[in-house]
Amino acid sequence: MDYVYGPGRNHLFVPGPVNIPEPVIRAMNRNNEDYRSPAIPALTKTLLEDVKKIFKTTSGTPFLIPTTGTGAWESALTNTLSPGDKIISFLIGQFSLLWIDQQQRLNFDVDVIESDWGQGANLDVLESKLAADRNHTIKAICIVHNETATGVTNNLSTVRKLLDEYHHPALFLVDGVSSICALDFRMDEWGIDVALTGSQKALSLPTGIGLVCASPKALEATKTAKSVRVFFDWNDYLKFYKLGTYWPYTPSIQLLYGFRAALDLIFEEGLDNVIARHTRLGKATRLAVEAWGLKNCTQKEEWFSDTVTAVVIPPNIDSSEIVRRAWKRYNLSLGLGLNKVAGKVFRIGHLGNLNELQLLGCLSGVEMVLKDVGYPVKLGSGVAAAAAFLQNNTPLIPSRI
Ligand code: PLP
Repeated sequence: MDYVYGPGRNHLFVPGPVNIPEPVIRAMNRNNEDYRSPAIPALTKTLLEDVKKIFKTTSGTPFLIPTTGTGAWESALTNTLSPGDKIISFLIGQFSLLWIDQQQRLNFDVDVIESDWGQGANLDVLESKLAADRNHTIKAICIVHNETATGVTNNLSTVRKLLDEYHHPALFLVDGVSSICALDFRMDEWGIDVALTGSQKALSLPTGIGLVCASPKALEATKTAKSVRVFFDWNDYLKFYKLGTYWPYTPSIQLLYGFRAALDLIFEEGLDNVIARHTRLGKATRLAVEAWGLKNCTQKEEWFSDTVTAVVIPPNIDSSEIVRRAWKRYNLSLGLGLNKVAGKVFRIGHLGNLNELQLLGCLSGVEMVLKDVGYPVKLGSGVAAAAAFLQNNTPLIPSRI
């Protein structure tokens, strides 16, 4: 039961944590087990192999760390870099800001490239910095693929292209927390050295596993990286990988079984179909926003995110009130505006295990709340625009063909 009861299902449309599918919930409803028995290593082996498919890597080494996205960030940085190392980081919203704060607290020399919130990473500035860095003092480029606070998706293949063009050896570290397993993501093809996500996002699991994948170059970097690391040390994992027992410390047995079930669902639908579903739901949401006469916080189409839409509301309305009322009146959970855009935007998360009709339910709830707070919306306008698009573009459910 809800801690604060509301009848019916909660419509969970925050951009993480997201809905957990019933088969995954059921798979996690089980007793603890001895993780040193042959069963858990056997299960873990399948997870490690299958996680590579989600990241689209064959050469990467995955780590499943009992942590959140923030811990996954820390593991990426401390395993590959030394205090004082010069790194480039893009500031485009709250999550890139938090990662930069972590980078600074870990004593890296962070060169911040800032953009307006609602814009993508400024890759022209990156290019000029790479061109000027003939002595290769820049040790890493850190970028959030999908800035969850503003609904901005950055172009990772261009970052790789620039690194290659200038023959620059900097490590390429990518936060894929609200992108991996929902947006097009190609670790090997884009030459990403460390990619990471959290279990509560597109994988549709509870919070608690930080998924990190390291390229051979990133593993090589651990040999000289002098950052202090204990809990997040990849070498502890690698030692147990060699032994075939996999875990340096106690994993959550329930989460591992849930993880297996979640991956099975993803592969049953097909990863490409999962990504196409996110593309469809993102587009439908943007059509609704347009029909309401509201603006997307994301300033250009090239950056539109298919996992989260941040909707700008007129200055006479406080977007926090929209989020409050949605929950109190319609049992609909929307994302708050964060930091610089607090009160100015609300966010619709459309990632994870989610379908067309669920999204239409959310959009209809948003319309009612907009009317509640005095925004002159025509009820049904956004739903109609989204439904018209979805009716034309939704394929048969892949596993039911
Ligand atoms: N990076 C991005 C893009 C996020 O959206 C979030 C959380 O929403 C994080 C990092 C931090 O993840 P966590 O809250 O799991 O530590």
